Amino acid sequence: MKTAIVGGGAAGFFCAIRLKELMPGMEVTILEQQRRVLRKVEISGGGRCNCTNTFADISDLSQAYPRGHRLLKRLFKQFGPEDAFRWFEQHGVPLVVQPDQCVFPAAQDSHAIIQCFLGEARRHGIGIRLNCKVEDPRQLLGSYDFVVVTTGGGGGVPSLFTFNIADTELHGLMGTVAEHVLSSIPGTKFRAEGPLLITHWGMSGPAILKLSSYAARYLAEHAYQAPLSINWTGETNTELVRTHIIYILRENEAKTLAGVRPYSLNARLWHYLLAKIGLGDRRCREIGPKQLSRLTELLTNDQYRISGRYHYKEEFVTCGGIPLDTVNSHTLESKQAPRLYYAGEVLDIDGITGGFNFQAAWTTADAVARGIAFSLLP
Ligand SMILES: Cc1cc2nc3c(=O)[nH]c(=O)nc-3n(C[C@H](O)[C@H](O)[C@H](O)COP(=O)(O)OP(=O)(O)OC[C@H]3O[C@@H](n4cnc5c(N)ncnc54)[C@H](O)[C@@H]3O)c2cc1C
Repeated sequence: MKTAIVGGGAAGFFCAIRLKELMPGMEVTILEQQRRVLRKVEISGGGRCNCTNTFADISDLSQAYPRGHRLLKRLFKQFGPEDAFRWFEQHGVPLVVQPDQCVFPAAQDSHAIIQCFLGEARRHGIGIRLNCKVEDPRQLLGSYDFVVVTTGGGGGVPSLFTFNIADTELHGLMGTVAEHVLSSIPGTKFRAEGPLLITHWGMSGPAILKLSSYAARYLAEHAYQAPLSINWTGETNTELVRTHIIYILRENEAKTLAGVRPYSLNARLWHYLLAKIGLGDRRCREIGPKQLSRLTELLTNDQYRISGRYHYKEEFVTCGGIPLDTVNSHTLESKQAPRLYYAGEVLDIDGITGGFNFQAAWTTADAVARGIAFSLLP
């Protein structure tokens, strides 16, 4: 029995190795279009490879996977993050968990993963053919019993990027971080939360990257022009925010508004916000009901305009690809072409930043290997 794997990336290698672990007699060959394999693994996570996540902060998989969460929920039962963690450690790659739940090789070097994969491929006798671009994987079905397509993303819609915002005053705050904000696109259901970083072109940080991922298709359709609302308090109950402001005003009656700092906001950011509504030099005791409403609105629904996208330098992922309803949801075998399988980013699955994309690659690659193994059972 022979299997061809089209694409020598994360999913391709993992699938090839899992196939040999499940069926040592299977002849497996990886066909890679470039001169080198595992290129993205090498540069991933700033060269450290954020290879999975503990998922401890994820209560619902749709938070981590805007597209593909239902399929992954099922497949995680077979091979989830804990299985991936165990697999790497058992194959000579000790891992460490960061406080933000991201998992990296203890060596803090993506080459730990690459050496593991290349070593396992050698040990199992997996063939690797470089400079071998496959134009039509279906044609390989003539000479191979199974073909697995792991050609990655590309050609899809970008899904992790930061927002350009044309506001030079804001750019002046470059490097400023707000620890917990809620970001949303007014008029849609897209919202995210987390730290926000102000950059010299607009906004970045987890609250923006997650929103870009959730709203990837919507933003592409709208040519990356859309309104953006920032709730700087992280609090969804505006009445609570209003009460908090009243409390601060009473406590600091003689001070100017610029001299107090609600929600421990960065002082420069707070001054920038106050300048937007022209209240910075007002004393707290001078704030009446109308100004109180403006302050509450400013903190909970501060409006911006997204005027373009900027690639996040480390994690550029695409959404789109093979529609999930065209593959068997257990084995990822094509419904149209029997014996043709898909794994990794080529599928319409993508995750937010934090090791979720590699986890999807390990899980889908494992599902394909199992699918092929089961198909051979008498
Ligand atoms: C800079 C960067 C950093 C990243 N960091 C992280 C991170 O730390 N954690 C995380 O979870 N995710 C990260 N990602 C995302 C992650 O790299 C991808 O989700 C993952 O690599 C997808 O694996 P894959 O095997 O499906 O595709 P790829 O890794 O893209 O591999 C596909 C392979 O197929 C080959 N190929 C394509 N077409 C053909 C063809 N026609 N014939 C033959 N070969 C072909 C390609 O050359 C490539 O080698 C990062 C992405 C980038 C770009």
